[in-house]
Amino acid sequence: MTNSFAILFEPVPIGPVIAPNRFYQVPHCNGMGYRMPRSLAAMRGVKAEGGWGVVCTEEVEIHHSSDLAPYIEGRLWEERGVAALALMADAVHEHGALAGVELTHSGGNASNLYSRTAALGPRAMGLSGFNPGQTRRMDKEDIRNVRRWHRAAALRAKEAGFDIIYCYAAHDLSLAMHFMLRRYNDRTDEYGGSLENRVRFFRELIEETKDAVGDRCAVAVRLAVDELLGEDGITSQGEGYDIVAMLAELPDLWDVNISDWSNDSGTSRFEKEGYQEAYTNFVKSLTSKPVVGVGRYTTPEAMLSAVRRGVVDFIGAARPSIADPFLPNKIKEERIEDIRECIGCNICVSADMLLVPIRCTQNPTMGEEWRRGWHPERIAPARSAQQVLVVGGGPAGLECARALGERGYGVTLVEARKELGGRVALEAALPGLGEWRRVLDWRLTQIGKLEKVTLYPGSPMTAADVLEAGFDHVILATGATWRRDGVGRHRWRPLPGLGSLPVFTPDDLMAGRLPQGRVVVYDDDHYYMGGVLAELLVKAGCQVALATPAALVSEWTQYTLEQARIQARLMDLGVALHTQQGLASVQAGGVTLAHAIAGEERILPADALVLVTDRLPNDGLYQALKPALAAGKLASLRVIGDAEAPHIIAQAIFSGHLAAREFEEAIDQDRAPFQVE
Ligand code: ADP
Ligand code: SF4
Repeated sequence: MTNSFAILFEPVPIGPVIAPNRFYQVPHCNGMGYRMPRSLAAMRGVKAEGGWGVVCTEEVEIHHSSDLAPYIEGRLWEERGVAALALMADAVHEHGALAGVELTHSGGNASNLYSRTAALGPRAMGLSGFNPGQTRRMDKEDIRNVRRWHRAAALRAKEAGFDIIYCYAAHDLSLAMHFMLRRYNDRTDEYGGSLENRVRFFRELIEETKDAVGDRCAVAVRLAVDELLGEDGITSQGEGYDIVAMLAELPDLWDVNISDWSNDSGTSRFEKEGYQEAYTNFVKSLTSKPVVGVGRYTTPEAMLSAVRRGVVDFIGAARPSIADPFLPNKIKEERIEDIRECIGCNICVSADMLLVPIRCTQNPTMGEEWRRGWHPERIAPARSAQQVLVVGGGPAGLECARALGERGYGVTLVEARKELGGRVALEAALPGLGEWRRVLDWRLTQIGKLEKVTLYPGSPMTAADVLEAGFDHVILATGATWRRDGVGRHRWRPLPGLGSLPVFTPDDLMAGRLPQGRVVVYDDDHYYMGGVLAELLVKAGCQVALATPAALVSEWTQYTLEQARIQARLMDLGVALHTQQGLASVQAGGVTLAHAIAGEERILPADALVLVTDRLPNDGLYQALKPALAAGKLASLRVIGDAEAPHIIAQAIFSGHLAAREFEEAIDQDRAPFQVE
């Protein structure tokens, strides 16, 4: 192979099996799990088809005492779980990849809300996630039982066809890890005290798994080697190092990362490509076994470098494989510019947290492989030679134009602004969001290859312009505008006193119109925008306070694992935080806040107010063109993205993609447009 990245395509033995290359999809949650086995199998199968040499499951519960409900993970409690997981192993094998299964007993991280079994732990301790209840302190019989359940689950995984069977100790989420951590293990028997004793349970699990399935299956370990907690936790220079040294040659493969999940899945706002290397790079020096490491690797240069420098043997990836299931094949074919790079937004994570099938900002087909039959690299060819006019070059319009063009339709996209990209171009210029530009860059690159798609920036369109252009089919992706009157989730009437204090919206700030002096950012949007703008304003020299009716700043970012980091950053920047505070009115020199529950009012001095509340869809063009549709002057008219219903960028991309897939298809509005599991 002459490919400059040939080293990434070398086969690598893992115990008794051989991975066809160095691309390793590490375990990742997906909100489908045991409940949607066909969706899951199709999603994993597409990754294998795209060239990932190893494709793993998410956490798979080994027993009903490790019931992660309400979260939807894998289940191998009993024999009946085998058939569902075999679907996935088969789908992965179909493309010549190895299938890995991450067996776990989650100890006190499993609240057992469904099974109602007592949770287990090295000591009696509170369940995770602030769930009421505690674990039962395990006795020796409990320890023997869990070992037996793990062994039985490993045998079932082997029966399901898996090639790599994990013993899991990452993320502070597993019983094996709980035994190893001093803060959870106060035992005085041979499972507590010295590190060797605390590691004993994990060692036994690995040894017994090897004994049970090691003849045909590789046994992998997933370990968080640093928790970023300093001396209270495992560190890569302390016990993390020592654990790897102790168990160095025992497993067939080391899959190492940092903990907790928010550190492991750091967003691009806080972490850059390869960010875990500083913690995991010691592992290869202690073992002759292959090592997998993650760090949101999306560029082949960084991957090659990590292998060459001896940091890892396998490029581990969850998010880069979600954003682009065909990433390995694109590198193999040297189609580097076609890689749809992950933007590090963690919308994929939010789906697992919210108990719905996985979705991705960059890859609208993610999670839709089975239920809608969508493939990331294939789309139905055009049914006709129709030409389509798309108005608006934000994420919705660009994705729609790209996917229609890929189908073979002729597309004319017009955009009012000189720069394409809509909100993505603007938001990517905000602090920490630079990688989000990849949403725009990838689409422009792809559109550049489509001869029948033409882009016209700097072309604001009226309804008359649209009709004059003479297209039969018009798709409107005209976006949305932030409200200026305070109406949002918390307030349903315009704010009293408007006009007495300078008021700004995110649109103003993104257009470079910044307030000065003491500024109150009022966040009734609850995702990233309020916090990001507070950061922008501090950097611009303002004295910033952030008020929100929610209990936490940027409350929804809990689902993207960012909330604690955002709050810490705002506190570091000196932003005064006022939570559970609604905005009651404005007056010259200040705003009046009212406690969101008690109603008690207080005045916050301010020279300006930034309102991050609702958005209004820019649907004027749609309303103006509807009569033309009714009069038969247009064959079809569709409004998509934020112009239809303001939402996150992932939804705008999805909406644009959906419109392209559905173009010239008969749609039955009375039925779900997908298969339901
Ligand atoms: P979405 O997230 O739905 O893609 P955006 O707000 O990011 O929405 O993008 C909408 C784009 O549409 C913006 O770039 C805006 O300039 C453009 N636009 C809005 N109205 C018109 C119009 N009448 N003619 C041309 N472009 C328009
Ligand atoms: Fe990456 Fe965001 Fe897609 Fe997750 S949702 S894979 S973080 S682009």
